[in-house]
Amino acid sequence: MALPRSTTPAVGTGLVVFQPLKRKRCAECGAGPLSLLTLEGGGPRCLDCADLGHLVYLPRGDTALTRRSREGSALSAVVVRFNRRKSRYERQGVLVEEAALALAEQRCLADAEARARRRARDAVRRAARDERFAAAFAEEILRLFPRCPPERAGRIAAHASVRGSGRVGRSAAGQALTPRAVTAAVIAAVRHTETEYDALLMRGIPRGEARRRIARGVEETLRAWGRGTS
Ligand SMILES: [Zn+2]
Repeated sequence: MALPRSTTPAVGTGLVVFQPLKRKRCAECGAGPLSLLTLEGGGPRCLDCADLGHLVYLPRGDTALTRRSREGSALSAVVVRFNRRKSRYERQGVLVEEAALALAEQRCLADAEARARRRARDAVRRAARDERFAAAFAEEILRLFPRCPPERAGRIAAHASVRGSGRVGRSAAGQALTPRAVTAAVIAAVRHTETEYDALLMRGIPRGEARRRIARGVEETLRAWGRGTS
C-alpha cells in the first residue's frame, strides 16, 4: 500500500529528503531511527521504501560539483533540515546517482587541471615580460653608463626587475625606465658590490654614516662607467 511518488513534497523542481530532528521510523518497513527520510502522505519513509536508496549523499559546498551531479542524475533529491531558530528548512546537500557524481567529479577535476595549465601559461608569459623588461632596463643602464660592463648592467637590471621584490625596477618609475630610477638601481648595486658599504653596515655603522663614507667611491665608479659622458 505504497503511496504514489507524487505525494512526496517537492521544493522547486526536485524531491525533498529530510534530516529529521527527532528519532523517526519508516512507516512502511519499520526501519529506524532514520538519518534521512521522505514524507509520503505525511508519514516518514526510509529512502529504500521511497525508492531513493540507490542515491549517494553529496554535502553542500561545491557548487559546480553539485550542479553537474544533479544534471547527470535522472533521479535526485535535495536534503534539508529544519532550523528551529530561524523557523525554516535549510539545504544540507543533495542525493544524486553515484555514476553522475563520479562523472561530475571527473569534469571538475578536468576544469581544475585546465586552470592549472592556464596558470602555468600565464607564468611563462609573465617571465617573458620580465625578461623583456630586464633587457630594456639593461639597455637603459648602458645608455646612461656606456662604460659599465654589459654583464654588470645585465645583472643589475635582472636584480632590479625581480618580480614582487619591491625593488626599484618594479616600482612605477622603474617600469617607466626613467633615468632617475635606472640611476638609483645602479647606485644601489654599486654600493653593495663596488664599496665596503655592506661591511660598514655589518660593523654596526649607521646607514647614513655608511653612505657618507662610501659616497666618493660610488661617484668614482659611476664616473668610470661613463656617467654624463654619453
Ligand atoms: Zn522503509
